[in-house]
Amino acid sequence: MRRKTKIIATLGPATETPSAIRDLLVAGVNIFRLNMSHASHDWTREVVGAIRTVAAELGVNVATLIDLQGPSIRTGDVAERLVLARGDLLEFRNPDLAPALPLSVTTNYDKLHEDVSAGDVMLVDNGEIHVRILRIEEGRITCEVLTDGAMGSRRHINLPGIRVNLPVLTEKDMHDLDLAAALAVDFVAISFVRDAAHVRYLREQLLARNCRASIVSKIEDQEAVKHLTGIIEESDAVMVARGDLGIEVHIEELPIVQRTILRECARIGRRVIVATHMLESMITNPVPTRAEVTDVANAVFEQADAVMLSGESSIGQYPVKCIENLDRIARRMEREPGAGFADAIQLSGEKQHTVHSAVVLANSLEKASLVIFTAGGVLANHATQQRPVHADIFAFCPDEEVMRSLLMNRAVTPFFLEMADHPDDNIRRAIDLLKENGFVEAGNPLVILSDILHRDFDTEAILLRKA
Ligand code: PEP
Repeated sequence: MRRKTKIIATLGPATETPSAIRDLLVAGVNIFRLNMSHASHDWTREVVGAIRTVAAELGVNVATLIDLQGPSIRTGDVAERLVLARGDLLEFRNPDLAPALPLSVTTNYDKLHEDVSAGDVMLVDNGEIHVRILRIEEGRITCEVLTDGAMGSRRHINLPGIRVNLPVLTEKDMHDLDLAAALAVDFVAISFVRDAAHVRYLREQLLARNCRASIVSKIEDQEAVKHLTGIIEESDAVMVARGDLGIEVHIEELPIVQRTILRECARIGRRVIVATHMLESMITNPVPTRAEVTDVANAVFEQADAVMLSGESSIGQYPVKCIENLDRIARRMEREPGAGFADAIQLSGEKQHTVHSAVVLANSLEKASLVIFTAGGVLANHATQQRPVHADIFAFCPDEEVMRSLLMNRAVTPFFLEMADHPDDNIRRAIDLLKENGFVEAGNPLVILSDILHRDFDTEAILLRKA
C-alpha cells in the first residue's frame, strides 16, 4: 500500500549534509522546507543543490519549499537575559531612543506604538512571557509584567487579536524571493498572511521574478482566521501553522481552528498542510508520545495533504525515526475511513465534473487506480481534492516543475513523461512504467483521465483499461 499523506521535513544543522538528506529521502520525505527565519542564502543554495543531486542519484522526485520569515515582530539584542518578575515594569522602545526604565528592550517595528492600545496583552518568546500595556508614547510602550521569566535576545512578539499594519513582505522577504526564483524552488510559503490581498501581492512578486512556485499561505493569527475563505481561494495551498496559531488563539480553540481550515480547504479544493509540534518530543526522544501519535493520526483522519516537521528534523536527534513514525502512523490511519470533508466540495466547470465521474468510477471498482495525464496539473489537483476513497492517483506530466508541484497532493504519485504524438503510446508507456515498478498489478482496473491525449483537440477523456 502506498502512503497517501505527504511528508514535509525542515532541514537544519541536524540534517544539512548530503548523507542526512539521503537518509530522509529513503525514509519517505516528499518535500524539504528551508526556513528563511534561520537560513542564510549561501546555506540555502548549497542545501538545495545537495537535495537535487541526492534525489537524482536515488532516482526519486522531491520538491523544495522556501518559507519566508514575513513580518515577524522581534525584540532586539540584550547584553544579558532580562530577569522578569510579576509586577515589574518593562519597556519596549524604538532603537533610536534611550532606555527610560531599568528593564528596557528595543523592537524591530518602529510603529508598534501605533497598533496597540493600553490594556492590550503582548506575548513574548513563544507565548512564555505575558505583559500588559500600561502606557503608550511615541516610540515607547511601558508594560506590566504578568509572568515570571527571563528574556533573551531577538524574541518573537505575538499580539493576539490585534491587527498589525506591517507590510506582508519585508525587505528581507523580497531578497529571499529573489533567491527562491533563482533556485526555481517549487513552493513559497508566506508567513503571517492576513488577508487575500496579501496572497495576491505575493503572486505579483513571484510573476515579476518569473517564478512558477506555488503559494502556501500560513494561517497563524486571528486576522488570517477571520479572512480564511478569501486567503484559501487565492492560495495554491494552506498551512495550519500551529506554532504561532497556538499563541494567537486561545489554545483550546486550536483543534477547532485546525478542523475549520481543513474543512474549508476541502470545500474550496486546495491542498492543506498540518504543521508544528507533530512529534516535538522526538527532538530529544527516540519514540513519540501517545498524544503525538494520536495528533498525527488525527491530521491523517482529517485527510490533510501533508504533515510537516520543524525542529524534529532540523535540530532533532532522531530525524529519520520521525519520518519512519509519520510513515507508519499515516499508512495505518489511511486504512480507516477518513473525515470525508471533501464530500462538501464545490464542483464547478466541466473539468471538475469530468474528474468527479472518473473518481466515482474508481471508487466503485476494487483495486482501481486513477491514471492522469496532466499538462498543467489541473486534472491531478481536481482528482486529489475529490479524495478518492481507495484509489492511488498516478499523474503523468510533461513539465518537471508542474510534476514536482504535485508532490504535495494527497494520494498523488507524479511522474515526468514527455508526451508522444499518439495517445495510445502515452498510455502504453505509462502502464508499462507502473507495472515495471510494482505500482499496479497486471489485471487491475485503471481509470485513465486525460486532457492532453489529443494534442489538437480540447478533449477530456475517461478510459477504463486493465493494467
Ligand atoms: C508555525 O508557526 O507553526 C510555523 C510553521 O511557522 P514558523 O516555523 O515560521 O514559526
